[in-house]
Amino acid sequence: MALLTGGCLCGRVRYEAESDGAIVDYCHCDSCRRSTGGATVAWMQVSPDRFRVTTGKAAAYRSSPGATRHFCPVCGSQLYMTDDAGRSVGVTLGTLDDKEAVAPVAHGWDGDRPSWLCLADELPRFAGNPDYDS
Ligand SMILES: [Zn+2]
Ligand SMILES: [Zn+2]
Repeated sequence: MALLTGGCLCGRVRYEAESDGAIVDYCHCDSCRRSTGGATVAWMQVSPDRFRVTTGKAAAYRSSPGATRHFCPVCGSQLYMTDDAGRSVGVTLGTLDDKEAVAPVAHGWDGDRPSWLCLADELPRFAGNPDYDS
């Protein structure tokens, strides 16, 4: 079991997640881009029982039906995302303590990617939701 830790920029909210069996990919959707301010967002999806907030409490924002984004109420770092069905918890790769711990294996919502963002890899690309994630 690989137990990964992470947290927000100011350190008030900290979490841990087990990466075994995780789905790791980019999401280029408009909602991810706007909610972080970044050009794209890489996510690690784990089952809810493999994720715990260990310090502090994140604020929540419902960004689309059934989906809630959780962020530090002080510094604003987006830390994780949950769904109403309790299917998975998505952890933002950018908030992991070890940025090399896991790496994306696909591009989701590539149809929303800005044309100026060129990631020259050979990973599979999905115009919308990846087929493993529907
Ligand atoms: Zn913070
Ligand atoms: Zn997205």
